[in-house]
Amino acid sequence: MTYDERLLGWKGPAYVSLLTLQGRMTIAMVYGEYQAGYLQRLKGQVDLVYRDGTFYLYATIDLPEGTPIEATHFLGIDLGIANIAVDSDGNSYTGEPIEVVRQRCMTHRQTYQATGTKSAKRRLKKLSGKESRFRRWVNHGIAKALVAKAQDTKAALVLEDLTGIGDRTTVRKSQRNKHKSWSFRQLADFVIYKAQRAGIPGCCVDPRNTSRTCSKCGHVDKRNRRSQALFSCLRCGYTANADQNAARNLATRGFVSSPDLIALSQGQLAFAW
Ligand SMILES: [Zn+2]
Repeated sequence: MTYDERLLGWKGPAYVSLLTLQGRMTIAMVYGEYQAGYLQRLKGQVDLVYRDGTFYLYATIDLPEGTPIEATHFLGIDLGIANIAVDSDGNSYTGEPIEVVRQRCMTHRQTYQATGTKSAKRRLKKLSGKESRFRRWVNHGIAKALVAKAQDTKAALVLEDLTGIGDRTTVRKSQRNKHKSWSFRQLADFVIYKAQRAGIPGCCVDPRNTSRTCSKCGHVDKRNRRSQALFSCLRCGYTANADQNAARNLATRGFVSSPDLIALSQGQLAFAW
């Protein structure tokens, strides 16, 4: 349930006043150290959520953007299924823990679905919350690692523009339920807001053909991508991990579309891999 400022009031650091069917109620609240640091920045509406017997307030906070770092190059990030993210340096951020939890949840789900009783239905609901909270946690971790790397190496981040991702990707049928475009979008959102907070510049670019284009010579051919994992250029023979090749293409597109995101002039820029 959504509460705006007329229906909700913060009463010091420990209480909140909520309008309920029984009138206004002042209710004690608890939160962690992390949240305590942001109490001054509470902003706008709040969602009241009832989960597993406990009421939660999901609050929005307003954060100033960090002082921009002086980026010296672009770091492309390719989003995928097996490797949730691979950057243009070849570092991969695995989706394996998500897969393990997803598989386990699916087995339980099938059991409960077959049972069909009231308590099984309740368990099903709980399960789906568990899976999405876990996915969220993993995506937060990956986003944090990517932004930390950009900060350490003074890189501007280049993500793929995810508009229309559902139409673009062709996934084998067995992989289809693994393919959750909302999870990609969540990761991209996390990367963007963490980057903005840290002052990391970046942009989103059109990802079309990034998986079939050679990042070394620019040759475009579907057959360049030999398998899910391997890229091998038919023209120049360049061979690389397919996701890393795609991430390099994203980095190049970032450079082409937004060269002003990096501080150095083009003459000084060492952009040849
Ligand atoms: Zn090539």
